[in-house]
Amino acid sequence: WKNAPASLAALLAASRGQGERTFLVLDDDRVSYAAHHRAVAALAGHLVALGIGRGDRVALAMRNLPEWPMVFFAIGAIGAIVVPLNAWWSADELDFALRDSGARLLICDGERLARLATPLSALPELPVIVTRSAAPGRAVRLESLIGAPADWAGLADADLPQVGIAPDDAAAIFYTSGTTGRPKGAVLSHRNLASNVLSNGYAAARVCLRRGEIPPEPAPRVALMVIPFFHVTGCSASLLPLVATGSTIVLMPKWDATQALGLIERERVTTTGGVPTIAWQLLEHPDRARYDLSSLEAIAYGGAPSAPDLVRRIRSDLSAAPGNGWGMTETTATVTSLAAEDYLHRPDSAGAPVAVADLAIRDADGITDLPPGTLGELWARGPMVVRGYWNRPEESAATFVDGWVRTGDIARIDTEGFLFIADRAKDVIIRGGENIYSIEVENVLYAHPSVTDAALIGVPHRTLGEEPVAVVHLCPGCTADAAELQAFVRARLAGFKVPVAIRFMTTPLPRNASGKILKSELKHCFVTEQADTA
Ligand code: ATP
Ligand code: MG
Repeated sequence: WKNAPASLAALLAASRGQGERTFLVLDDDRVSYAAHHRAVAALAGHLVALGIGRGDRVALAMRNLPEWPMVFFAIGAIGAIVVPLNAWWSADELDFALRDSGARLLICDGERLARLATPLSALPELPVIVTRSAAPGRAVRLESLIGAPADWAGLADADLPQVGIAPDDAAAIFYTSGTTGRPKGAVLSHRNLASNVLSNGYAAARVCLRRGEIPPEPAPRVALMVIPFFHVTGCSASLLPLVATGSTIVLMPKWDATQALGLIERERVTTTGGVPTIAWQLLEHPDRARYDLSSLEAIAYGGAPSAPDLVRRIRSDLSAAPGNGWGMTETTATVTSLAAEDYLHRPDSAGAPVAVADLAIRDADGITDLPPGTLGELWARGPMVVRGYWNRPEESAATFVDGWVRTGDIARIDTEGFLFIADRAKDVIIRGGENIYSIEVENVLYAHPSVTDAALIGVPHRTLGEEPVAVVHLCPGCTADAAELQAFVRARLAGFKVPVAIRFMTTPLPRNASGKILKSELKHCFVTEQADTA
């Protein structure tokens, strides 16, 4: 590992060899690998001319446009640090990350520029490059520098500026999803990113080897990219392995299940996914049968708990291979993965570690290793673990210890090495001294035919401390009531785990951009509502 060629520049150089093969598709625009390389080299030259160099942070704030990967590589290839910002963020959140990362330049789309109007007026020194904007204001238009994606093929073929990049240099700062608090910037090195590329496809290879077969060479795919590039799942677990295999990426800057079905048919998409909720929406779409989805080969996801039934449904209803994986921003995404019969036989597992990862389940002291099958806190180690948080020495010291990362997830590992996530430590509900792990109860609720979305939350109780309450969303036309769902859980789990109340939501549960249910929001509504009725 120590000697592996590991940099975004190296990955980019390799992708240049794909030539005229299509890299990015957005509507009727098609960008080849060669055209992409030209645009990256041209933009990299402009960045160097602007004085951007090694270690400088450059913020990247846009939807999944063809410009996103191009800007990402241009920043990384000159040794600067790319800071992808969440396109869903409000002006205040964007402002926080711009200041937190100490960005020296912002590259954004017109929508983000408009949203940032007020914060940017307080940052007059910060240069801005904008794409797809009718009113660029003080910003320089990206199109005036290198043209629009349709023009990139006509740019001169140029080499990248030569900068020395060491594998352990910082390549990117990705912010955590902010599910449990304010997002933290994880500093990813070039080696972190490269290790993740190599880990991709490992679960399928593991299954082949166990069967006594030689794993096939990774083949180019046609991927429908429906999750944001600004999360590690979208960038290091999707974009970069796709580039490494010369794949085609079909973009959909705004998620829409109907449009996704149309694109799968039109582009003969072979793989999609990212987060479990996307897979569900494709499966449950009322008009799914009207589309030709026969090109689909695999649907893989991770980053959030998924209902065990999803595996079977992807197999039976879409004839595709399901895949799952566990990871976090602090691990550059993939640490475990799960595919083929390994997954079908363990639909509630989050996978086994990739070749270069070690996992441990430890006691709350963070030192004592617990035996297989025991629930405890998950720790992970390997070349994908980041070096720390940007400018947060105390939190870094508490989270990164001797090459290990303390994950904050409660999990167990079986005797064969497969990981099962029970809950986030912060979400465990303690009812009169008994621990309730929400994923266990949620999985039972998901198994009820009427339930399409479920979350278990703890609400305060005077004597018991906390009580479990379920928030559910039912499928259209379904009519289960609270007593029925409670009886369903009671028949399968211990009495103390049965939700004391069920709250029905008419809309799907609120999720963040990485597909995770925002329990803090649900808790807040529920507790306020109880206070109102009291
Ligand atoms: P923050 O750390 O800011 O509160 P976050 O933890 O949601 O937000 P991410 O780094 O995007 O930010 O997510 C990592 C978390 O996602 C893991 O700690 C775990 O709880 C959850 N997760 C990831 N993959 C899976 C999976 N396959 N099954 C269950 N949970 C998963
Ligand atoms: Mg986290």
